[in-house]
Amino acid sequence: MSPTSSSRRPLAVGAIAVVAALVSVVVPTGTASAATGTREAAIAQARANVTRNAGVFGFGAGQDLVVKDVVLDADGTQHVRFDRTYQGLPVVGGDLVVHQDARGRLKDSSRAAAHDAAVTSTVPKVPAQAGAANAIAAAPGVQDATSTPELVVWAADGTPRLAWRTTVEGSGEHGQPAGKVVVTDATTGEQIETYDAEHQAAGTGHSEYTGDITIDTTAQSGGYTLKDPVRGHVTKDANNVAASALKATSGTPFTSTTNVWGDGKKFSTDRSTAAVDAHANTAWTFDYYKNTFGRNGIKNDGKGATVFVHVGTNWDNAQWSDSCFCMMTGDGDGSTDPEQVDLDTMGHEMTHGVTSATANLRYSGESGGLNESTSDIFGTMVEWYANNPVDTGDYLFSDQSTPPWLRRFDKPSLDGRSADCWSSSVGKLDVHNSSGVGNHWFYLASEGSGSKTINGFTYNSPTCNNSTVTGIGNQKIAKIWYRALTVYMTSTTNYKGARTASLSAAKDLYGLNSTEYKAVAAAWSGVNVN
Ligand SMILES: [Zn+2]
Repeated sequence: MSPTSSSRRPLAVGAIAVVAALVSVVVPTGTASAATGTREAAIAQARANVTRNAGVFGFGAGQDLVVKDVVLDADGTQHVRFDRTYQGLPVVGGDLVVHQDARGRLKDSSRAAAHDAAVTSTVPKVPAQAGAANAIAAAPGVQDATSTPELVVWAADGTPRLAWRTTVEGSGEHGQPAGKVVVTDATTGEQIETYDAEHQAAGTGHSEYTGDITIDTTAQSGGYTLKDPVRGHVTKDANNVAASALKATSGTPFTSTTNVWGDGKKFSTDRSTAAVDAHANTAWTFDYYKNTFGRNGIKNDGKGATVFVHVGTNWDNAQWSDSCFCMMTGDGDGSTDPEQVDLDTMGHEMTHGVTSATANLRYSGESGGLNESTSDIFGTMVEWYANNPVDTGDYLFSDQSTPPWLRRFDKPSLDGRSADCWSSSVGKLDVHNSSGVGNHWFYLASEGSGSKTINGFTYNSPTCNNSTVTGIGNQKIAKIWYRALTVYMTSTTNYKGARTASLSAAKDLYGLNSTEYKAVAAAWSGVNVN
């Protein structure tokens, strides 16, 4: 799902945990090779800057720099994060960030507590076994504990000393994975600190809809849980409790001892299979908003939601709840529709949270249709963004979990209920059908009118005024729609207002009477919104 730390040393967990959860990796746009070149050049310059300014960084004999992360700003500013080692031992509290301009010249730095990292000896007076025994004694809540001591230079308070950092792994009082990290002075045996062991891990998911994938999980000593430490969401089993009765604290966390999840089957008896899709597709939705629009989570506050699978019994639906800050997904109808956890469904429901945090379009009349259409649009865009070879991008909504599809964009009326064209009565339709006008607009503006085969599926989009519309691609249209939603639309925006809002957005982004502006206008006229 996301780049994970290259560090796989199991004992570095504590230090990595805190940082991994707080740091966002900004992926520069452009070709992969160009991005890699910039990244490598930035790292080389940063190393040179630290060596050149050794006094400033406390970078002395016996030390090495281990690159941890690189953030490249849009204006070329570079931020290279390093961990330090001393005589090959990790230095706890020795991490630093080198801030450089676009040409790699040192501008500033951020440094953890340690300045110097040198200790008088790297030979412990307290032997490893004693360090391990001390650690187990210091973690009484961990049962059936095993412990693994690692020698480190501990300098989190600024003064370097040789220490045993010991991970104690076992189970908690309810059999759940539990663990502690215990740090003791390797010269005196004195306990320095203890904290819960928990860190980011890359799990293997056998998903229902997107094949075998990597998912971000959290390792606790003795096992793993479906908590995404990068984006913050937690995926839980609702145990078939109805949506109306669920709270964020309800349900049971999924755990695994192997970090391999699911069996890849629809209607699976393995309850973690639907959880793999829900967990991964929540991450894709978060990443889509973050990397496309710079939106940090549903409410733009960096917080992840609670995600429930197995909600209700044969509940062929999914929903977002603002009050719970939860995503709830059912198991389908038990016959033709499997679990409602595919990419566009997850993207759709979480987009309701985004809409509610922004334009807050009222869920009735034309604004309700626009609310639903917004969820269909961004749900589909999440699918395009994920670019998964099994569940490819399309203009069909819920094609995986409600086969062959629940709604489609090119000609919404093919579902027998939705409107293709605006009319004065469209606001009287159910919001999932008045959304057709917005969806049809999105298709025309993205792909244009007439027949077109995209990723192997043939669409045929008519216009309501017999015009020919030329599309400008869904990425530009989604960008325009996002700006319209977050800047110009309000709770009572109707289709006419949506035309105005999206034209304002197109003007901001591409200029008045630009190709993009004209395409937006032509597509609205093509669905009778003038
Ligand atoms: Zn909806």
